[in-house]
Formats: sequence, C-alpha cells, structure tokens
Amino acid sequence: MDHGRDQTGGPREKCGVVGVSLSERSAARPLYYSLYALQHRGQESAGIVTHDGFQQHSHVEMGLVGDVFAEDDLDQLNGTAGIGHVRYPTAGGVNTCCAQPFSVSFKSGSLGLAHNGNLVNADEIRDELEGLGHAFTSTGDTEVIAHDLARNLLEADLVRAVKKTMERIHGSYSLTISHDDVVLGVRDPEGNRPLCIGELDDGYVLASESAAIDTLDGDLVRDVRPGELVVLDRDGTGFDSYQLVDRDNTAHCFFEHVYFARPDSVIDDSLVYEVRRTLGRKLWEESGIETDVVMPVPDSGRAFASGYAEAANGTTAEGEERPEGDDGVEFAEGLMKNRYVGRTFIMPTQDERERAVRLKLNPIKSTVEGKTVTLIDDSIVRGTTSTQLVELLRDAGAEEVHLRIGAPPIVAPCYMGIDMASREELIAAGQSVDDIGEQISADSLSYLSIDAVAEALGESRADLCLGCVTGEYPYDIEGETTDRDVERPQIGDTSLVADD
Ligand code: SF4
Repeated sequence: MDHGRDQTGGPREKCGVVGVSLSERSAARPLYYSLYALQHRGQESAGIVTHDGFQQHSHVEMGLVGDVFAEDDLDQLNGTAGIGHVRYPTAGGVNTCCAQPFSVSFKSGSLGLAHNGNLVNADEIRDELEGLGHAFTSTGDTEVIAHDLARNLLEADLVRAVKKTMERIHGSYSLTISHDDVVLGVRDPEGNRPLCIGELDDGYVLASESAAIDTLDGDLVRDVRPGELVVLDRDGTGFDSYQLVDRDNTAHCFFEHVYFARPDSVIDDSLVYEVRRTLGRKLWEESGIETDVVMPVPDSGRAFASGYAEAANGTTAEGEERPEGDDGVEFAEGLMKNRYVGRTFIMPTQDERERAVRLKLNPIKSTVEGKTVTLIDDSIVRGTTSTQLVELLRDAGAEEVHLRIGAPPIVAPCYMGIDMASREELIAAGQSVDDIGEQISADSLSYLSIDAVAEALGESRADLCLGCVTGEYPYDIEGETTDRDVERPQIGDTSLVADD
C-alpha cells in the first residue's frame, strides 16, 4: 500500500511535529530540516513558530516543506527555540486556517502548538470555552487545546496548566508546544502517537520520529513516555521530565510500525524496519505458500517481503527444513514505481484512483511471466490497489498471484488521527478473507494475525491500539465499543447534573 489515499486508497497519516531548543544557534533551520524528514507524515501544509525571547515569529503555509519556506522566511524566524509541523487535514477540513503550528498571544505570553493525533471530545471543550467567551478562528481541535491551556496558564504555572489540560482532553495527541521561548513536548496518557527526544551538540529536539533527529546529526535519547511532559531548557543544556498522568496500559498505534513511520525510525524502542521484517517472517510462518517468486509492493511491502523471503528460504511452508538442492523461493522486484507521480497528485474519484495505480506501478515482465507469484503488502484498505496489482501481474503473464498482507484485516475506521476510510469503504468490513480474495481476484489471500503483530512489536495486546482491526477502541468514542475500562472526562458545568 502506498502513502497517500488521494492516489491509491491507502490510509493517510495526519501529522508530524517537532520542537527544538538550542543554546545560541537559530532554531529555524534545524526545524526546517526536521520537517523535511517528517514530510511523509503530512503534505498538505507546513509551518514553523519560533520565539526570540521577546516575540513570537510564525510562518505557516499550504504546501510541501520545500515549497513553503524560502531562504528569507527562515531568516525571519528568529530565536533559538521553536516548534514545527507538517499536516494532512484531521478535524477541521482542508483549509489554511487549520494549518499548524497554531499560535496565539494572551495575557501571560504567547503560545504555539503543533498536534499529531485527534481528540474525541474537542467539541465538548470548544462548546464550554465558547460559553466562557473564547472566540475560535478555526474548526480544528488544536485550537481547542491552545485555548484550554491559555486559560489554565492564567491561574497556574506551566506544569500544572498542562496537567489540567491533559485531564480534560480525551483522545490521541503528541504535542510540541512553545510557551514564549520554552519548548515542551507532551504525549497522551496512552502513548497512541509517537514522540521522542533527541540530543544535539548544542541543544535538544523533540520529534514525531527519530529519523528527524538523525537528520540533525543528533542522538536519540528516548521516547517521550505516555502521559509525560518534557520541558526543554532554554539554554539547550537539558530537559526536565514530569510524569503528569499514569495509566496501567498504553495504546500504541500498531499501524505506525506497519505502515506510517519511516523504516529508519525507532519508535517505542523498536526499529521500524526490523519490526516489518519480523512481521514478514511471521507471515511466512502463519500462511506461507510455495511460489516461484516473492515480490513486494514497492515501497511499503519491501521490508515485509524481505523478511518473508528470508524465512521462506529457511523452512518450507510446512515448517520443515529445506532439503538439499531445494533453493527455496526467489526474492525479486516485479513492480517498478514511477517516482515522479507526486503525493499532491489528487484524483478524487474511484475511477481515477484506479487509473493512478497504472501510473505509479509497472510490472517487470521477465520476473513475472510464466511464474507463480507471491505479492507482499502491508495492508489493504479499500482493495482498489490490490485488485489493480493482481490484474497487472496477470496481464504481465503471472500464472498465479497469491497475496500476503503483513497486518490483520482493517475492519473499522480510525478516530485517532488516521484517515482510514469509512466502514462502507473498507473492503474487509463485514467480509470474510476468502470473499475479499475472490473480490480482488487473487489465487489466495492471507493476512497476519493480531497476536503475531503484538509479538513482533514485543507488546501485549492490552498495550496496543487495535481499533481499526478489532472495532474496539482504547478511547470512549460515541457509537463505538471500547476494549478497556475508559471514560471520557466530564466537560462543562456538571453542577446541574449533580443536583438531580
Ligand atoms: S485505530 Fe488503527 S490506525 Fe488508528 S490509532 Fe488505532 S491502531 Fe492506529
């Protein structure tokens, strides 16, 4: 599956966030390079907010990082501290007013906020704050967090203000925040979306993924813990940690490892590339099939396919050692990608989306012709891409096409900040695996089990969000069931209720 639902029907990550505090150097360029490293997490808008100790500077526009910032823009983003954001639309729709970081000035200073995730109770908090006289300029949930925090900062110090806000907001959030020239990072109590801390020669950085820290030639210190607030020192010499909320279980999004994150990132102590290879190995163990050739859907299926092929060359599909003279399967590239079909290539209709697959991928005939083929991908969302790829390989002369998927079937939408499509659009919602296989015309189709995913991630099922593959969520979402004892916080004036 490819990133960018606009092209091929795959799920879309919503955002990437970064924050930097340096001793003397301007923060603008490190923020800019970090956003480049996080571009895969959002291509609709990009922005940076810095603070020079006296005033806040902001540059936020629609477009890719490389198009949004000119040399002059970076020169005007003064200050050694700042935050940055790349975005796809979540709550708030597609428009400039929801591009981030969101910045605001209020009585006790200025705030900048960059948010990855999605709140499920933003409307309730917005209604309450509007009732108290807060005027909102966007429909996004980031502004809700900013207003709530600004209100709390009038009555409490920074740490207590963040804690109060965390006690009210419900959902997934990894935030980088600038309060004047102090940069903070916050991860929701379930740790749903990633956030990590890195050390540079002259400062510290917070980022959605460690690949951004690598880009700055820094060292990954560790992940921000679920429910933790990290406050970077103004002079770039260190950071303070405050564990503001403690939960028994986490709800890490397993899909970060399967699909969204860069393979070279380390998330929650696991290198994404290695997790994907392990998932591929488990896929062979669970549902391997002997074919002439194993090939990935580029680029997303590559790590899975290499793990799958490696396992296939060690044992047979029955789990036996391969006998002498049995060379196992051939691992080959059978589909070539056109790298110049950009992410911003928008094709809104289903028909056009189908054609997009042909634009993006072309089979290598010699690898495919007259062969039985196993095609490996990371996920199936609507099934459009898979159907097209099976057809493409058959047209190129494949004798059989077997599809193996390195994740469980996606049966339900995501409310935590991933654009997964609705239940009606999801091919696996309400259909058996055999029926899906038939619908996409594969000779056989198998998905990986949920247990195998948990094992590959080294986590118990209870510490993962599995909402999109079980239909049960770790948050209290209207109209959906939960997989744990969880309730959204009471928002608004509850005294009337108490009087009843
Ligand atoms: S529902 Fe799926 S995509 Fe969304 S946070 Fe949970 S695991 Fe991730």
